[in-house]
Amino acid sequence: MPVILPDPCTNKRYNAQSSYLKKRFGKKTVKISLNGGFTCPNIDGTKGAGGCIYCSSKGSGDFGGNPIKSISEQFGEVKEKLMNKWGSDLLCIPYFQANTNTYAPLERLKKLYSEALSQENVVGLAVSTRPDCITEETADYLAELSKQTYLTVELGLQTIHDETARLINRCHTYSDFLHGYEMLEKRGINVCVHIINGLPFETREMMLETARELGRLRPHAVKIHLLHIIRGTALAEMFERGEFAEMDMESYIETVCDQLELLHPETLIERLTGDGDKETLIAPLWSRDKKSVLNGIDKELRRRNTVQGIRN
Ligand code: SF4
Repeated sequence: MPVILPDPCTNKRYNAQSSYLKKRFGKKTVKISLNGGFTCPNIDGTKGAGGCIYCSSKGSGDFGGNPIKSISEQFGEVKEKLMNKWGSDLLCIPYFQANTNTYAPLERLKKLYSEALSQENVVGLAVSTRPDCITEETADYLAELSKQTYLTVELGLQTIHDETARLINRCHTYSDFLHGYEMLEKRGINVCVHIINGLPFETREMMLETARELGRLRPHAVKIHLLHIIRGTALAEMFERGEFAEMDMESYIETVCDQLELLHPETLIERLTGDGDKETLIAPLWSRDKKSVLNGIDKELRRRNTVQGIRN
């Protein structure tokens, strides 16, 4: 087999979103995490109670801003921190991250999204939500918005396996996901799908089946997360009772490389591991060393002489 070389611009063997944004907008482009003060139908009792068993008290938006502050204030604070890190010449994509960011009347969504879009140096918008929280009305509005800006709707899938979805209390099925996904796709809206590796009792083959299915769907982008066991969650109680084991780093790296091979080559890769809150993380503690995980993935792809999409 001939030697397969990485992308000459990024030196990566996968289609990294960061370089796509740089090519598209001509500058370093960063996401600004915001908290719009939403709740979640899986927390307020509409779909379920207690939330997904891994969900932190911040609605899985540990890096979102403080919802007491306005969107403009949150935006300014996060942007300043990022400017200290990356320099002042940045473009921004406000990212509604915490909880379910389409779960409110349309007028409220319009107000919050417009405030975010009106900030300086903004070139897009990202909205994270559940697939069962997209109505026809919301989808029509998002379609309008995506004609005006680079919009990505981030849908939590986590797994295609309904038995796991039940165990983790997602309170939606894979077929519910497809319904929400198709409402967005048919309107030409970019979708980023989130999946989680290491969910209790999932085998490697099950995780690959989830990736294979995404390879078939060809979403605009994918985020691959590692399951983080966070203090105070139902998942942490299960873990402390010894009901399941955390994923080890080697298996995680191998699984991610297999998944990259199964995805479509043009799907953007937004994330290859999770960013848990270090203070409350119980396990896997190796995930704190994100650089080693990412380097491990690069090394394994190089060892295999492979690239994203080779088995799509
Ligand atoms: S859907 Fe998201 S915000 Fe809602 S309970 Fe699950 S992880 Fe938490």
